[in-house]
Amino acid sequence: MSNGPLPIRVDPRKLAERAVRLSGETALGNMPNLCQALADKEGAITVDLQFDVDQQGIRTISGEAHGSVNMICQRCLEPASVAVEAEFNLGIAASEEAAKNLPRSYDPLIVEGEEIELLPVIEEELILSLPYDAYHEDCSVQTSFGDAEAVAEDNEKPNPFSVLAQLKADNK
Ligand SMILES: [Zn+2]
Repeated sequence: MSNGPLPIRVDPRKLAERAVRLSGETALGNMPNLCQALADKEGAITVDLQFDVDQQGIRTISGEAHGSVNMICQRCLEPASVAVEAEFNLGIAASEEAAKNLPRSYDPLIVEGEEIELLPVIEEELILSLPYDAYHEDCSVQTSFGDAEAVAEDNEKPNPFSVLAQLKADNK
């Protein structure tokens, strides 16, 4: 098991034959396609992958990647922290054709040559795991879809702007 920065390029079949486990962290900035969907590039993704050969001789990669990213809250348009997590259960295939013969329990990973770049594989799964819309769990902006009770309760709280107006009035 190796810990620390993840290798950029790997030979997944070789790693599978050696039953290597890769664990480490990568900065979000190393995943530019993922960052396009995010509010910023702040944060890191923790990765834990086990390479192996199954009983049928299929080289596999299993494990998970997770992290915390910032997406724009669709209510207040400020960054909101969103937990992302992707699971991997990949079967390595040499071609599209070979991928069709993989057991359905595996997601095919087509590796035509020897080496692949590891991060794009992880990045792609994380992109698929992103929520379509992000919201603060406790957003300060209420939508009109909120239930009536919650809206009523909110109206009882002093509005910061009316408090400010009151202060100004008092100072006159
Ligand atoms: Zn918000």
